Amino acid sequence: MKNVFSILILSILVLTSCKNEKKTTTKSKLVVGIVIDQMRYDYLTRFADKYGDGGFKRILKGGFSLENAHYNYIPTYTAVGHTSIYTGTTPTNHAIISNNWYDKYEKKTIYCVDDSNYKTIGNDGDGGKKSPYRMLTTTIADQLRLSQNMNGKSIGLSIKDRSAILPAGHTANAAYWFDGGAQGKWISSSFYMNELPNWVKEFNENGKADEYLSKPWETLYDINTYIESVEDNNKFEETFKGQEAPVFPHDIPTLRSKNNNYSILKAIPAGNSFTTDFAKATITNEQLGKSNYTDFLAISYSSIDYVGHQFGVASKEIEDTYLRLDKDLEILFTFLDTEVGAGNYTLFLTADHAAVQVPSYLQSVKIPANYFSYTKFKTYLNEVSKKYFKSDELIENVSNFQIFLNKEKIESLKLDEHLVAQKLADESINYKGIYKAVTAKTLQTTTFTNGILNSLQNGYNQKYSGDILLVPNPSTISNYYKNGGTTHGSGYSYDTHIPIIFYGNGITKGASKKEYEIIDIAPTISNLL
Ligand code: ZN
Ligand code: ZN
Repeated sequence: MKNVFSILILSILVLTSCKNEKKTTTKSKLVVGIVIDQMRYDYLTRFADKYGDGGFKRILKGGFSLENAHYNYIPTYTAVGHTSIYTGTTPTNHAIISNNWYDKYEKKTIYCVDDSNYKTIGNDGDGGKKSPYRMLTTTIADQLRLSQNMNGKSIGLSIKDRSAILPAGHTANAAYWFDGGAQGKWISSSFYMNELPNWVKEFNENGKADEYLSKPWETLYDINTYIESVEDNNKFEETFKGQEAPVFPHDIPTLRSKNNNYSILKAIPAGNSFTTDFAKATITNEQLGKSNYTDFLAISYSSIDYVGHQFGVASKEIEDTYLRLDKDLEILFTFLDTEVGAGNYTLFLTADHAAVQVPSYLQSVKIPANYFSYTKFKTYLNEVSKKYFKSDELIENVSNFQIFLNKEKIESLKLDEHLVAQKLADESINYKGIYKAVTAKTLQTTTFTNGILNSLQNGYNQKYSGDILLVPNPSTISNYYKNGGTTHGSGYSYDTHIPIIFYGNGITKGASKKEYEIIDIAPTISNLL
């Protein structure tokens, strides 16, 4: 208790000194937001002995680290995470309720950034028909542009489209993402531009992608020194297509053709190095941090997430990916020092969610964990509905642990919609793997101030969410991952606890063990600017 108290005092002191110092510093020329896709907080400590001084450790030592920061809503998915970081609010307000969700108005499953009003810029595929229009609020990058009367540049980039588009916001000058497949190009959408800038075209022709794919993925250091992770060959991991066992060295040049050609670059640590190359090219060619206005660059390192899904959080692959990412971060930070100038930029580093240990691995060590089948659950719901309401057509869609009711059918049968929802919620609890079930009406009429139901409420959007929201048991994930690997999405701390580190212009050294929420980043950066 005494320790906790002194830490609190310390953090107050640090924050106070931070406040005083702010008055004497000049405004940042560039803000860099770095999101690591699927980073558990414990990766900072677990691999600490192997990190160099110029990557994670540099910003931990010279910046301010929030050691007990969490996501405060469900579901903890990529699009939702990136949107919440940059908008400073949750799905209740920003309306990005998942990556894909059932749109009850269009009556089909949609993808968060799809927009058929726009065309692809950079190749002849469909990968660029995107925009952030479904995000209803502004991001920090939008607010920065507005405050400077649309001066200053804001650019988003990532291997994943959603992770480039949502952070950069509605007023972005550009967002770029990597379209894998046969062509392997950085592309954009006509939402931003009519043609790729020459420097992007040149980057696309520089042969870097092929160079990265010409080498096998071997461990950075002797694999025998990777004592922070489980055995390389284990049954809890998923192989690449065409691979015998999920082990090093991963023969990328051979595996490439069976794994959608350039797309395999997204799923290996070289994808992070490639992202770093593109970020450096962006800073130089767009002259970021060189004008009298503040520019904004949102970078998302997405390859980690693919590795985490495939091999799990305790794998040698994840360990190697983080050790390599640490090197990429060092390259990026050093580049920012020389190109923008140390002290001229502010950065923050965080993650869009963490991840759970592979459930089958947890089961093997006697920890409760499970796989959930949406198909079987829907069959169960239909049986319940038949029993109580004489119809098995009342469920329209079950996805993202939400149930969408068929309102037309309910009305035609003259049933009470709220009674149907409540009965299905009550009966859902009797289904294995479902831990809590709450109707939309309850979320509209009750305020949950803490715990998992508060997270569920923060993730609930009255216009877009389902009619019944479910919370699965801890360590219970979709049976899509039954053959190996893992995922994220829950409101449990294995998915919510992530790093938040501020560094650079305006930031004083320090750390806090106080509980913070992901939505605290946007107001902190806004206040600083
Ligand atoms: Zn993610
Ligand atoms: Zn993921």
